[in-house]
Amino acid sequence: MNKSFSCICILLCFSNSLLFAQGKQKKVVFIIADGIPADVVERVHTPNIDLIAKEGKYMRAHVGGEKDDYSQTPTISAVGYNSLLTGTWVNKHNVWDNDIKEPNYNYWNIFRFFKKQYPDKKTAIFSSWTDNRTKLIGDSVAAAGNIHPDYRADGYELDTMKFPHDEESDYMHQIDETVTNAASDAIKNKAPDLSWVYLEYTDDMGHKYGDSKKFYNAVSILDTQIGKIWRAVQYRRKHFNEDWLIVITTDHGRNEQTGKDHGSQTQRQRNTWIVTNYHNLNNYAQYYRPGIVDIMPSIARFMNLNIPLERAREIDGISLIGKVSVADVRVNYFQNNLDITWKALEKEGKAKIWVAITNHFREGKPDKYLLVGEVPVSNEQITIDASKLKSSFYKVVVEGPFNTANKWFVTDDKQTLSK
Ligand SMILES: [Zn+2]
Repeated sequence: MNKSFSCICILLCFSNSLLFAQGKQKKVVFIIADGIPADVVERVHTPNIDLIAKEGKYMRAHVGGEKDDYSQTPTISAVGYNSLLTGTWVNKHNVWDNDIKEPNYNYWNIFRFFKKQYPDKKTAIFSSWTDNRTKLIGDSVAAAGNIHPDYRADGYELDTMKFPHDEESDYMHQIDETVTNAASDAIKNKAPDLSWVYLEYTDDMGHKYGDSKKFYNAVSILDTQIGKIWRAVQYRRKHFNEDWLIVITTDHGRNEQTGKDHGSQTQRQRNTWIVTNYHNLNNYAQYYRPGIVDIMPSIARFMNLNIPLERAREIDGISLIGKVSVADVRVNYFQNNLDITWKALEKEGKAKIWVAITNHFREGKPDKYLLVGEVPVSNEQITIDASKLKSSFYKVVVEGPFNTANKWFVTDDKQTLSK
């Protein structure tokens, strides 16, 4: 063996062992299919969605925040997308409708967390609208952290030459086909580390025809498109050392009467669904009905993102992946006391209870959190003397070994709405 050959061999062996040590490359693609209530995706034959669910899980889920409480969130498209991206409800992310007037970028989205930790890894967006990229992700917006998706295929709605707008909205079906092809090609050939695919035709058919064969047919078409993207993922899994997470969801349901409208808080408008190929979801996913806000912390966990405590304290979602200490925090105020309860999903360790009476985080400034108690996670309850705090607003955070969960207590409506 000559010397240069043995050098190459040593180098190759070394890089192989490094690769082995680092494990598979983690890759994520999430898909938002617009405006499909849970009962509709369940009644339509969706062989491709079923294949993914067979590997992982299909879950009924919800949007809309907590009904009649401070986090109640309109069941409107862009509002839902931003709840997914930021892991927060509208009282924080501040996107109240599809105009997307003043997103509060102090609540970072998943793309920003991802780029902050992995500046060299690649992100991608595939969408009919441009707003998803320019306003929600905040492409090249200073306040949104100046991030920039590495691959993009969007804005086809504006191309009326290629996609002339017709009465039947068939152009939107054609746009979704283009988006699907762009996404599956990019996944197959470039394998972006974090991709968002947005598909819109189902919502158009829902608005036009409500509960009808035409709407259900749009869901069948969507399923075929998901199949194409899933096959691209399968191709990568077969030929590359990559670990892929796929998450598919919708942004809202539709009204009970006609299936045409959405925006308010009835059950069917709030009832959504999540499908993932992840095969070992945690207790939280098993025992609770997840919310759209849970997807962001799940992706973060899968990607091993380190979210600093001051930001983790603000995230409303709970990861569906990995160990979780606490969920379902509730706060009741009585006679100058805060009665704080939670559910212990992993019982080990201590829970630190933090309280802040300001919300400077909204303006990008820190809040002063007081450590008001520390008890075993398994206690699931603590009573705090709040007489010295004298506030009409409390941000409560329960921090366990594996996650944090938060809840506000608001007696003053001024604090509730940032609109
Ligand atoms: Zn929508």
